[in-house]
Amino acid sequence: MKRIKIFDTTLRDGEQAPGCSMDLREKIELALALEKMGVDVLEAGFAIASPGDFESVSEIAKVIKNASVASLARATRKDIDTAYDAVKAAVAPRIHTFLATSPTHMQYKLRMSEDQVVDTISQMVKYAKSKLSDVEFSAEDATRSERDFLVRAVQAAVDAGATTINIPDTVGYTTPFEMESLLLYLLEKVNGLDQIDLSVHCHNDLGLGVANTLAAIKAGATQVETTMCGLGERAGNAAMEEVVMALHTRQDFYPYTTGIDTKRIFPVSRLVYSIIGMNSPLNKPIVGANAFAHEAGIHQHGVLANTQTYEIMTPESIGLTTNKMILGKHSGRHAVEDRLNDLGYTLTKEEMDEFFSRFKALSDRKKTITDGDLEALILHRGTDVNALFRLDRFTVNSGNYVSCSAVVRLKNNQGEQFEEVALGDGPIDAAFNAIDKIMKAPEHRLEDYSIQTISEGRDAQGEAVVKLAAANRSYIGRGLSTDVVEASILAYINAMNKLL
Ligand code: MN
Repeated sequence: MKRIKIFDTTLRDGEQAPGCSMDLREKIELALALEKMGVDVLEAGFAIASPGDFESVSEIAKVIKNASVASLARATRKDIDTAYDAVKAAVAPRIHTFLATSPTHMQYKLRMSEDQVVDTISQMVKYAKSKLSDVEFSAEDATRSERDFLVRAVQAAVDAGATTINIPDTVGYTTPFEMESLLLYLLEKVNGLDQIDLSVHCHNDLGLGVANTLAAIKAGATQVETTMCGLGERAGNAAMEEVVMALHTRQDFYPYTTGIDTKRIFPVSRLVYSIIGMNSPLNKPIVGANAFAHEAGIHQHGVLANTQTYEIMTPESIGLTTNKMILGKHSGRHAVEDRLNDLGYTLTKEEMDEFFSRFKALSDRKKTITDGDLEALILHRGTDVNALFRLDRFTVNSGNYVSCSAVVRLKNNQGEQFEEVALGDGPIDAAFNAIDKIMKAPEHRLEDYSIQTISEGRDAQGEAVVKLAAANRSYIGRGLSTDVVEASILAYINAMNKLL
């Protein structure tokens, strides 16, 4: 079977999407999870976009050992220099440079003639090659480009030494048959294209991102660019889990493999949604809450008789375990560690020490501890490391005939204590007001606040997510507790720490 390379751009295209920004620590955690999952190339960011982007690309380049690390760069010397500086420490660094080839982009955005575009591609790919060997060129808006001009542009990149040619459907415009025919045309007309990697990058504006990606594979693509959960600009990109599971489930029609450990799909999707502070849509293919749920009587009957009646893949294959081994107060460290390993997490001894003490604290407050609880504890580990302020204690007073009040005491990173009292429209509002008095953050507003339960039962843990907006950026905070007020306070402090 032919091996298809997975180029993951969750950290670049995904992170660029509105409401999906991630901080450095989150990006590194996600990069490590994607590496463990088996992606071939990690596009860590667009190094020249900002100093923060540069830092995250270079930090990711330093920690990733088993995947190539790429930075995006426009086709200019300055962009390529910056991308190179950011990725050069990687075991396998890649520069991903791009230039638009469609009439609309060339005329209105670039204001360049066809000849200028071809010359620039040739010069800038050569320039990138002078810095390192692994150079990818993308013909931006390729699917709306004039075919024979696209052949010229791609030929220039191949002749200049590009090792991967990417054909992006930048605006999600193409359809599967066109994608297949475009790639076959390029493979026929461009000399040497069959000797290097041919890639696609499909957006989902018409809901065809995954279909177009599969059509490209059928036509001969050897790399596909995807994002976890389909995050990305506008309607997003082809979702990695959907492309991978389509190949995995339909090997009869698609004789291709990837390096992805499919059992990591579900945990990594949880990590992604947790970082961006959202839940998966219920009906999201593969990782949505309903993806493996059967409610209709006929379906339940069928699945009970034989799961294959209504399931084309097993929940276990994506790492959604049905093993409901229950842990609790009396579970030993070994049992907890075993369960974590089954769920795909390997902790160092120090991490396990810290984790186990939090597990014990939770088991004092909650009778049974499910896989969902364990994963929530994992995802929330280290939320407060290096925090400016952390929660020391709080009291809220709430009722239906009194104004709600809160007393909150925080400690700063020097160990000093600060206590404030505030009123509010409810216990959460009162607590947030008290925190505002202590933390004195610049002008901000609460953009979104939600709380959801992690598992079943009245003693379930609540996960609160707070989104603060300040100076055109949003800051996401998360908190976890069996007490919803405490979870909310922790989430608010987490977001405020990021804002400060
Ligand atoms: Mn894109």
